[in-house]
Amino acid sequence: MKINTVQKHFNDYIRNRDKNLGCISCGIKPKNPHAGHYLPVKWYSWLRFDKQNVNLQCPKCNRKNNFIGYRQGLIKKIGIEQVIDLERRGLEGKPKGFSWTEKRKQKILKSL
Ligand SMILES: [Zn+2]
Repeated sequence: MKINTVQKHFNDYIRNRDKNLGCISCGIKPKNPHAGHYLPVKWYSWLRFDKQNVNLQCPKCNRKNNFIGYRQGLIKKIGIEQVIDLERRGLEGKPKGFSWTEKRKQKILKSL
């Protein structure tokens, strides 16, 4: 399965999960909500489908990477300890030998 297909299903899941919440970074309720990453995919590929790392975001904040707003919103949503734990998983770096195997992608799909 293509990773973009998994991403599409994952993003649908996030938008539905957060449908009653505003943008994680600025609080507005966008007409066209995005599923935005806190730690970006290009640097933290192993957190691409981490449910704490992806939240509903307005297109503007997603585009402009409203990082401080995102962190503040995430602290309100999941608590500072969970944010620090997520950041720790980012700082630890990519797990040795990690890649998005078919098995891992299937496991993500099943969890949605
Ligand atoms: Zn926003």
